[in-house]
Amino acid sequence: MDPVRCSPEALSAALREVDARQQRRWREPARDGTRNFCSNDYLGLAQDERVRQAMAECALREGAGAGASHLISGHSAEHDALERELAEFTGRERALVFSTGYMANLGVISSLVDRDDLVLEDRLNHASLVDAVRLARPRIHRRYAHGDAFAVGETLGRHRQSHPEGSALIVTDGVFSMDGDLAPLPELVVHARTHMAWLVVDDAHGLGVLGRNGGGTCEHFGLDVRDVPVLIGTFGKALGTFGAFVAGDEALIEWLIQSARTYRYTTALPPAVAAATRCALRLVRSEPWRREALHERIAVFREGAHRRGLPLATSSTAIQPILIGEASRALAASRQLRESGFRVTAIRAPTVPEGSARLRVTLSSLHELTAIEALLQALERAVHDPLRISACEASSS
Ligand code: PMP
Repeated sequence: MDPVRCSPEALSAALREVDARQQRRWREPARDGTRNFCSNDYLGLAQDERVRQAMAECALREGAGAGASHLISGHSAEHDALERELAEFTGRERALVFSTGYMANLGVISSLVDRDDLVLEDRLNHASLVDAVRLARPRIHRRYAHGDAFAVGETLGRHRQSHPEGSALIVTDGVFSMDGDLAPLPELVVHARTHMAWLVVDDAHGLGVLGRNGGGTCEHFGLDVRDVPVLIGTFGKALGTFGAFVAGDEALIEWLIQSARTYRYTTALPPAVAAATRCALRLVRSEPWRREALHERIAVFREGAHRRGLPLATSSTAIQPILIGEASRALAASRQLRESGFRVTAIRAPTVPEGSARLRVTLSSLHELTAIEALLQALERAVHDPLRISACEASSS
């Protein structure tokens, strides 16, 4: 930590700077009576009676926590079964459950990257991937322009002329968490093949949502384990629970067990969470109506937003950002929506690039169509009514 920060006075001054940049974050209880349009529970499974029941029954049977890390005594039959089911679901030999997506990303990248390697990552990758690459400190590290597969091909081609042998990794979100758009996976697969690179895809927001069976961005594009050898998914989004996994071939998973420090040196996920996740995974597969309802809601929202001239990002997923620009305007609009009974978070720098603040609307299969219509009306007022917005700003400053 910066030594200058190690006093209460210095921290207070640093917080004042955060306020001056309009970057202060705060927490509010989620169940405040507003309609939630910023949760990642895309299929409504966090509230499903059967998922809750599975968690409760397993907790009563096996206890509230795993009691140790996986390699000591924390690995349970529930973890084992979940890993087998995830492997089957993703069409891979094996899967490995991590306690969070953040930890999965740190563990995977630091286990695969050697100091001599090249890592190419999309500029808009999730913070956990960005941190993972920073921690791994590859010799050459390039952040390519968002979605620019051509640049990936060029950089890899040049790299291979001087380094015919070393490893190279392309690291990308499947669905970008703050934009909702998809990575150009088919093109990245071609470049990875041509230049002997590995493709690592974090599909936290694609899994359950995209593909006929909810197999995510890979299924959407018809890609398999030969195309995407390292697939990361999380349980805290469409599956409605908590935790994460990595799926790939036998050698990859066995190597991660040996080398991923964020796997080895942390308490295993509570077995009850694994049990609930197994139940949620079954529902993702057996209740396609959830996905269909979600996509119907996405289409309704996008059509309504276009009709109202709202500055909507290009996205076909549950993440539907309304691009505002200035942080203060996004904050004011979010506050105004709150007053109208809707919870929609204003996403600002440093989570997104400076000047690209947005309202990150997320949709769920359980949203009623009438609630979406009401949200659109409230958004129209909040986004197009600068007078009202500046009044909100004045009253809150
Ligand atoms: N990857 C992506 C793309 C994410 O959006 C997130 C969480 N928002 C994570 C990883 C981290 O997952 P977890 O919440 O399980 O740590």
